[in-house]
Amino acid sequence: MNNAPLPAGATIGILGGGQLGRMLSVAAARLGFRSHIFEPGANPPAADVAHALTTAPYSDVAALTSFAETVDVITFEFENIPTEVLDILEKLRPIHPNRDALRISQDRITEKDFLSALGLNTAPYAAVNSLEDLQTALETIPAPAILKTRRFGYDGKGQSRLKSADDATAAWADMADAPSVLEGFINFSREVSVIGARGQDGSVACYDPGENVHQDGILRTTTLPANLTNTQRMDAVFLTANILKKLDYIGALGVELFVTPQGLIVNEIAPRVHNSGHWTQNGCAVDQFEQHIRAVAGWPLGDGQRHSDVVMENLIGDDMDRVSDIARDPTAALHLYGKSEVKPARKMGHVNRIQPL
Ligand code: AMP
Repeated sequence: MNNAPLPAGATIGILGGGQLGRMLSVAAARLGFRSHIFEPGANPPAADVAHALTTAPYSDVAALTSFAETVDVITFEFENIPTEVLDILEKLRPIHPNRDALRISQDRITEKDFLSALGLNTAPYAAVNSLEDLQTALETIPAPAILKTRRFGYDGKGQSRLKSADDATAAWADMADAPSVLEGFINFSREVSVIGARGQDGSVACYDPGENVHQDGILRTTTLPANLTNTQRMDAVFLTANILKKLDYIGALGVELFVTPQGLIVNEIAPRVHNSGHWTQNGCAVDQFEQHIRAVAGWPLGDGQRHSDVVMENLIGDDMDRVSDIARDPTAALHLYGKSEVKPARKMGHVNRIQPL
């Protein structure tokens, strides 16, 4: 769908009111748009900076309908949107990125099938729906391996590592009968990700790959530049552009990659702005949030060029105790999400430390 560019004052509807919705709303406001957040939970971080908030469950058809009627276009900050919600909304307003991108990325098997069909490398994988399936799968994908739920996993949740086939019973119990996928363990040298965006005119802009370090399954830091050869860097960017085109995608998307001596292996794609792209807020003229809003609004994309080296550090749980120290560092750009309650493993904010090139 090629819509006329949205004029200033138009309203962008955002499903989800977490920190990503908050930073999308700020970017929308900078371009003269309003944002309307739809979020079931109370006091969402995005509400502080949005024009309007609807608090209702995703099962509330009347609330979804009136939300859609007040906005010009709909986007989202998370991929696990129930299909029935899309059925209702898409009759009323355009939704970007499209439904196919959501369908593919919601399920780890569909996602890997899609990536393999594109000629991209993934970890060896097999569907697992029972302990017997798991034992059979371990014959072709021997341990070490990782069992993951097909859907609804995030920040390392819904995953169990198998050091040997003896761990099968415990790993399957961890999945609580959820349809799952067994993945061969990739011995990667580093993890990187690329944030790319595609506009309604089909143009594509990718940011430089960032190097990610995870701790307990949660992103800890993203460092730019990533330690990659020029060939690896180009491969990472081209494969991201390829995914964007194949999905006929509109908006920003994150692609997580494992770097191995045999080449890049795609771990997963996220059809939205991504935590590993937060560095762009202080490393580029147009960050991932503005890029996403531009795409969704039918505007031209900005340049993805990086003007600084950046280390992005997530502030998780008690890291908030360090905020007053961080605030004294003149090279540190702080981004706090306004969450009143500090909890272990809760993403409270992030800091971008920059060094101009
Ligand atoms: P995911 O939820 O798939 O992004 O996985 C979370 C983290 O677990 C990744 O960032 C990796 O550090 C690790 N991981 C996931 N899948 C694999 C794999 N097949 N081999 C090795 N490490 C993995």
